[in-house]
Amino acid sequence: MWICSRCQTANKDGHTQCVECSAPRNARRFGAGTPVSAPMVQAAAPERRMQPQTPGDAPPPLRRQPQPPVDQGIRAGRVPGGFVRLAGLLLSLLLPLTVLLLAVIRFEAVQPVITSIFFKPDAAVPPFFSYLAYGVSTLAAFLLSLAPGLSLWALGRLTGGLRKR
Ligand SMILES: [Zn+2]
Repeated sequence: MWICSRCQTANKDGHTQCVECSAPRNARRFGAGTPVSAPMVQAAAPERRMQPQTPGDAPPPLRRQPQPPVDQGIRAGRVPGGFVRLAGLLLSLLLPLTVLLLAVIRFEAVQPVITSIFFKPDAAVPPFFSYLAYGVSTLAAFLLSLAPGLSLWALGRLTGGLRKR
């Protein structure tokens, strides 16, 4: 037996609704209250879990976002300038080495030419001055052969610096 909370009519246990007013059994006593309170607890728990997670998740994207633009800027600036700088370095190594190699290997062929440039053809030139002139000329040719490669390397650095900005 159960008594309806609305009309106080006595109903049998087999009936889920009141015979008189068709109100559901335990509508205002326990049935309505407990089902509502349980979802509120469950709904509140995810909110409490979400709040600590959002501050924890927020900093990583903020830290990751500044890094990609820096990498892209370095890559965009280094790739074009780096090729020019590499070519400049190769030139500044190969050209002077070629000059030195020729100065050493072709000494007998080049030395009279250098001597004829610095001294008169018939003049009696001491060997020391002849070698000195050859050494100075070789040094001058070495420094001059550095110029194309170094200027290319400097151009590569300049364009790389401009593209970074
Ligand atoms: Zn009733």
